[in-house]
Amino acid sequence: MPRAFITGISGQDGSYLAERLIDEGYDVHALSLSSEPSPHCPGVVLHRGDLTDVDRVRSLLVQIGPDEIYNLAAISSVARSWQEPDLTARVNGLAAVGLLESALQAQETTGRAVRFVQASSAEIFGEPATSPQDEETPLRPVNPYGAAKAYAHLMTGVYRGRGLHAVSAILYNHESPRRPAQFVTRKITAGAAAIARGEADTITLGNLDARRDWGWAPDYVDAMVRAARAESATDYVVGTGVGRSVRDFVAAALGHVGIGDWERHVRVDPTFVRPADPSDLTADATLARERLGWRPTVSFEEIVGRMVEADLTAI
Ligand code: GDP
Repeated sequence: MPRAFITGISGQDGSYLAERLIDEGYDVHALSLSSEPSPHCPGVVLHRGDLTDVDRVRSLLVQIGPDEIYNLAAISSVARSWQEPDLTARVNGLAAVGLLESALQAQETTGRAVRFVQASSAEIFGEPATSPQDEETPLRPVNPYGAAKAYAHLMTGVYRGRGLHAVSAILYNHESPRRPAQFVTRKITAGAAAIARGEADTITLGNLDARRDWGWAPDYVDAMVRAARAESATDYVVGTGVGRSVRDFVAAALGHVGIGDWERHVRVDPTFVRPADPSDLTADATLARERLGWRPTVSFEEIVGRMVEADLTAI
């Protein structure tokens, strides 16, 4: 039975990935900060621990001997990375390097090939000179989150050079009803549901002009699995190729609950505007399409609709 090790199991992507690997018959092990089983992941063997505890994770990996490792653990919110830049550097940067070294040591100790996927981010491109971005676009992060992810991305390439099947999946924003409410999409869909129910009148947001390439989270998990199992390892940009503004997202979410004059329901509060914020991140995922046969399966409108519907049910 193939064996996988996941960090970041309690996050959106971790839960979808665990479900998928369990369905495929994998023996799934995961590192978790809490010993509470995640509601989405029955059947996963949880190992309590912190990714920054490199020695503990190293002995765990040698003991488990996984075939596939997915590093999804991160301080996942860019907004939070401004408040805790040093913690972000430790978790998103240094700990990823610790895990790469552990993967290589596990491979050398057990003699079994390890396939490693680093969940990287479009934030490594920051304010790119060109749009859309691909694997050759220079790294130019503009926030602590992007800079830490850029370090882990570069080190993934270094370990590939040392004989590890190491892949950096450069993921653009990907959403689902499991997205936590500190992300703008879920904040908007939860707000739209509350307005539809007559429980709120406004959604308070920051920069409405920022453009992001929003896709469906399980599609991005699919890209990571395909990259892990591909014949050779390389880095992949993963996104839909279509950028939309925060304003577009609000209009679609409120439109879904029958509100056309959405401007009346949005307030801009400068405290939600970030010190520096990429203005336009859009993916050119040609390589993933050609080499992995990957493609996004859910449209922007459908993602917004599914998220609003889930929030309407949840209220
Ligand atoms: P990110 O792209 O990984 O930072 O994901 P987010 O969902 O947190 O933010 C996406 C974009 O929405 C960024 O450009 C934010 O500046 C913008 N944005 C505008 N208003 C808000 C808000 O109220 N909350 C968040 N999280 N983002 C906002």
